[in-house]
Amino acid sequence: MTLEFTLATARDALRARRISARELTEAHLAAIDALEPELHAFITVTPEQALAQADAADAALGRGEGGPLTGLPVAIKDLFCTKGVRTTAASRILEPFVPPYESTVTANMLRDGAVFLGKTNLDEFAMGSSTTTSAFGATINPWQRRGANTQLVPGGSSGGSAAAVAAGMALASTGTDTGGSIRQPASFCGIVGMKPTYGRCSRFGVVAFASSLDQPGPFARTVEDTAILLGSMAGHDPKDSTSVNRPVPDYAAACRRGVRGLRIGIPREYHSDGMPAEIEALWTQGIAWLREAGAEIVDVSLPHTKYGLATYYIVAPAEASSNLARYDGVRFGLRVPANDLTDLYEETRAAGFGAEVRRRILIGTYVLSAGYYDAYYLKAQKVRALILRDFTDAFERVDALLTPTAPSAAFALGEKNDDPVQMYLNDVFTVPASIAGVPGISVPAGVDGDGLPLGLQVIGRHFDEETVFAVGSVLEQAAEFSAKPAIRMEAGR
Ligand code: GLN
Repeated sequence: MTLEFTLATARDALRARRISARELTEAHLAAIDALEPELHAFITVTPEQALAQADAADAALGRGEGGPLTGLPVAIKDLFCTKGVRTTAASRILEPFVPPYESTVTANMLRDGAVFLGKTNLDEFAMGSSTTTSAFGATINPWQRRGANTQLVPGGSSGGSAAAVAAGMALASTGTDTGGSIRQPASFCGIVGMKPTYGRCSRFGVVAFASSLDQPGPFARTVEDTAILLGSMAGHDPKDSTSVNRPVPDYAAACRRGVRGLRIGIPREYHSDGMPAEIEALWTQGIAWLREAGAEIVDVSLPHTKYGLATYYIVAPAEASSNLARYDGVRFGLRVPANDLTDLYEETRAAGFGAEVRRRILIGTYVLSAGYYDAYYLKAQKVRALILRDFTDAFERVDALLTPTAPSAAFALGEKNDDPVQMYLNDVFTVPASIAGVPGISVPAGVDGDGLPLGLQVIGRHFDEETVFAVGSVLEQAAEFSAKPAIRMEAGR
């Protein structure tokens, strides 16, 4: 049952009382019970809370009340603070942390009636592209190569959220995207993932990684579902000074706009050397689909694309090194007792942070240090401005951009773990939109020769998520993506 419903059809079935929120929630909890030993998509499952919320939803629906998400079981990346429910950021240093408050995004979803199944796994502090650096163990991608059972990564950092939705353990989920952490796992897991414009969703109560880049967003199995969920997540929040005070449009309605008359830009710099032919071919196919649907295709140039990764991997660690200074063993989380304060800091941080987080803190501290600030950090900020200008220039000529989401399909567990740079290269197509703060979506559009899903990315103007949803929906309809992961609720369970 769990994979048959979308967020939209489950909502309609609940309102028509064809199904109860309790039945729907129990079915998803059963899916989690059955699949979690293989996939490890969750860090914490909250069945009692979920069933209590489901019963409250049934009562509300019985009174003819209810919001946009009433009774819909969803999963939350374990980077969003949830009141009374442990929030770890997949780090030992936050293992004992139970927030006394709710993040604004999850509070918005609760206001709208959502049922929270639990907290999903991620790369430690959202740093990564594979969900393998979690202190609680890796998440496994529900997809497998045809004829093989090699374990694959779900992408990252929001890999648990993506795997849970792909396998039918949740109808939808939340992620955060700093340099691709929603779009890339969506591509690897054959689902839809949307990074809104920076400032569209509040970052209040989201464990900070790189504050000028971090942005919450939705995962689901259809474009319309991500539009529905974003409609709940988004909105102005006085508690986050970077959250923007603009009305939240009807994103679900925007999915039905079509692309007739839109100009779609194809950035020539995204033809990267060594990109698999299948991904090039899918991109060409995507261009043809949009042209057939009435869009005008325009070649554009984003000349500073080649500096995207270098810029990101200076700015993001710099901000991370500063944000993570708060984990000192004094105020919250892990504390390793020591003889004096300096030892307490050092021993707590040495015990609490994993290797990738330590690497980022070291890089970040280095690029911010007195002798190197101008050479690295300041330079990166200047290049960041140029990358942003590439996008604003392109958006004078076109309404949206079409690119592949990632340069590969899901790779094997452990494949890139020895070489951080190999891992960073994964983000080549997602990082520029993060640097510019513009919205992007990944839509599953085809499979590679091994039967693994591949995503196409649509990037739009600041605060024009509506066009992104419109273009994404047209791609979704044309692609008719119907392949299913090997490990899922319906596969004979
Ligand atoms: N993979 C990128 C990184 O490791 C992006 C992560 C993210 O978007 N949170 O930093």
